[in-house]
Amino acid sequence: MPPKTNVLVSGGAGFLGSYVCERLLEEGKHVTCLDNLSTGRMCNIEHLLDTKHFSFIEGDVCSSVPSDPAREVWNLASPASPPQYQADPVGTLMANVNGTHNLLELAHAHGARFFQASTSEVYGDPEVHPQPEDYKGSVNTFGPRACYDEGKRSAETLCFIYRERYGLDVRIARIFNTYGPRMDPKDGRVVSNFIVNALDGVPLQIYGGGSQTRSFCYYSDLIDGFFRLMRLPEMPEGPINIGNPSEFTIRELAEKVLAMTGSQAAMVDAPLPEDDPMQRRPDISKAKAKLGWEPMVDLTEGLEETIAYFGRNSVRVGLD
Ligand code: UDP
Repeated sequence: MPPKTNVLVSGGAGFLGSYVCERLLEEGKHVTCLDNLSTGRMCNIEHLLDTKHFSFIEGDVCSSVPSDPAREVWNLASPASPPQYQADPVGTLMANVNGTHNLLELAHAHGARFFQASTSEVYGDPEVHPQPEDYKGSVNTFGPRACYDEGKRSAETLCFIYRERYGLDVRIARIFNTYGPRMDPKDGRVVSNFIVNALDGVPLQIYGGGSQTRSFCYYSDLIDGFFRLMRLPEMPEGPINIGNPSEFTIRELAEKVLAMTGSQAAMVDAPLPEDDPMQRRPDISKAKAKLGWEPMVDLTEGLEETIAYFGRNSVRVGLD
C-alpha cells in the first residue's frame, strides 16, 4: 500500500492545478506537482514551494512521470485554451494520450484513485442542449480543435479501459468554461482577453458576431466539485459535468466586462474560428444528484474577483 497521503498532481502549476495542489495541502496530503511549464506558470505555485509537504518536478507527463508510490493521481496536464493547444497540436494530443496512459499505469501499479480533468469539448459543437453526460457529442476528427477534443476523448477511453480491466478507481470531471484569478492573461481565452483588453483600453474582438454562447463557471465552484467527486466513498458510474448552467452570449459577456470595468474600449468584429461551438451549457443533474453540488458564484461576483486580479499591473505583464 502506498503511504497514506502521497498525491501526484500533473499540470499542478496550471490555473486549476495550482488550486488543486493548495486544497490537497490543506487536507494534509503530501503533494508532488509535475508540470512541464508549457502553459503552467511558476507564479501559480511559488507560494507553495516552501511548504513542508509540497514538491515540484519540472517534467513532462509523456516522459517524466515519477514512480514513487501515490495514493491519488490527479491528471490536469494539458494546454486548455484553443490558441495554446493549437500551437502544439501533436504535443497536446500526446499529453492527453501518452501522458494519461503513463499516469494510469502509475495509479494501477500503486492502487491509487485517479482523477481525470476532462472537458465539455468531448461534446464538440453540440446538437443537444444543454449537454447531459450521455450525449455522445458532435466532434470533428479533422479540424483545428481535434487535437484537444480527441485527446480528451481518448483519455476518457483509457480511463474506462483501466476501470474495466483492472478495477481502477477513476473519476472523470467534464469541465465547462472556467475562469478566475491565476488565468494566464495571454492564454487567449475569452474571459481573460476581454478583461485585459478592457483594462488596457484595447478593442475587444468579438469572433463571429458574438451570438455563440458559453456558460462560465468560477474556479472555486469547480474545485469544490472536483473534491466532492474525489471524496465520494464509491466511484460514480461514468463522467460528471462540472460547470455553471447560466448561459451568456459572447456579446453579452463583452458588454458586461465593459460595464464592470468602466472601460471605453470598443468592440470590433473578427472572424469565427473554424469549428467554434455555437452553444454550450452543462446539464448538471448528475452532479446535483451524486455530489450534492451546484455552483454558488454568479458571473457578476466571479468577474469582480477576476477583474481585481487582472487589475494588478504585475499580473498583466506576467510577473504575478
Ligand atoms: N472569443 C471571442 N473573442 C476572444 C476570444 C474568444 O469572441 O477574444 C469567443 C470564441 O470564438 C468562442 C468563445 O469566445 O466562441 C469562447 O472562447 P474560448 O477561447 O474562451 O473557449 P472555448 O469555449 O471556445 O474553448
